[in-house]
Amino acid sequence: DPKALAHRALAGPPFTKEEMLALLRDPEDPEVLHILCRAAHLVRLKVFGNVLVLRGIIEFSNICRNDCLYCGLRRSNRNLVRYRMDEEEIFAAVERAIRMGFRRIVLQSGEDGAWHPDRLVRLVREIVTRYGVVLTLSVGELPFEAYRRLMDAGAYRYLMRHETSDPELYARLHPGTSFGVRREHLYTLKSLGYATGPGMMVGLPGQTLESLVDDVIFMRELRAEMAGVGPFIPHPETPLRDAAPGSPILTLKMVALTRLNLPETHLPATTALRVAFRDNPHLPLLCGPNVVMPDVTPPRWKVHYDLYPGKTKADLVDDGENVYAYWERQAAEVGLVVD
Ligand code: SAM
Ligand code: SF4
Repeated sequence: DPKALAHRALAGPPFTKEEMLALLRDPEDPEVLHILCRAAHLVRLKVFGNVLVLRGIIEFSNICRNDCLYCGLRRSNRNLVRYRMDEEEIFAAVERAIRMGFRRIVLQSGEDGAWHPDRLVRLVREIVTRYGVVLTLSVGELPFEAYRRLMDAGAYRYLMRHETSDPELYARLHPGTSFGVRREHLYTLKSLGYATGPGMMVGLPGQTLESLVDDVIFMRELRAEMAGVGPFIPHPETPLRDAAPGSPILTLKMVALTRLNLPETHLPATTALRVAFRDNPHLPLLCGPNVVMPDVTPPRWKVHYDLYPGKTKADLVDDGENVYAYWERQAAEVGLVVD
């Protein structure tokens, strides 16, 4: 019985694969969701207290050489205004984020060839030495030796979702590459000493419940320091435009199961998850996540970082408003304090 099983979340040994599948048998069951959320939130409180970690994300280029079938930045999307911020603009964005209150910064982009590794290394060194922020990178796959040089330059964490642990689905969604390649990149990042951030989308077309459980197991085996779980949201300018969106309830169950399986891993309330729950914005914060990554990209560019519908307006703040202060208020409403 899934409900009895869910109640065991805190008491018993960790769920087996079969038990996790049983918990997901009715993906939309709201009762199982609420039991899992309560357990995941308790684990989160035990490990991280009532602290909500904020990282400001700067999306410094939306130019991408890849053609991932789900993503609005894919190179085949001709109906997107492309931009690339330069060093001075990125420094200004970091300074603005620091003025708001941020001490942790994420640099994210498409796989943009003009931001070659040498240039990224100089950027990272300059940001870390000049501003003393904790820096996370999320710029896609690079040559392995570039990861090492970026680490030497001061990068701390590397977000690279594994997207799905189903090799066939992975290959269908990522022309010209494979899950094996992605896994090798993640294990290389890990062995170089990065805090790694894999993660998956929930509700990809053709994805099975079993592969979602395997996603959690993959992240547990990697001993991921961070895990980004969000729903798939179809983008109208991609081949998956007519696919069904990922279920918000199932996604939240996967977030809770991730927290229960990886108690000490940083778990963001991802932007896509917040978009899916925009009518109930407190719920994702009460289901295991301990991190939020508000967008601090300059307003004139962030509207073009259009990964999926709803993304560019996910933080309900006006241009120029302090998004850090906004999240201080949001956190307080659910009894959390930001750090
Ligand atoms: N280019 C880098 C990469 O792929 O790792 C970093 C940026 S990429 C846009 C960040 C993440 O956005 C991807 O890992 C993917 O999971 C997510 N994403 C892209 N399109 C999405 C969609 N339609 N729905 C939900 N998430 C999406
Ligand atoms: Fe490029 Fe990342 Fe989007 Fe794939 S998910 S198309 S690598 S930006």
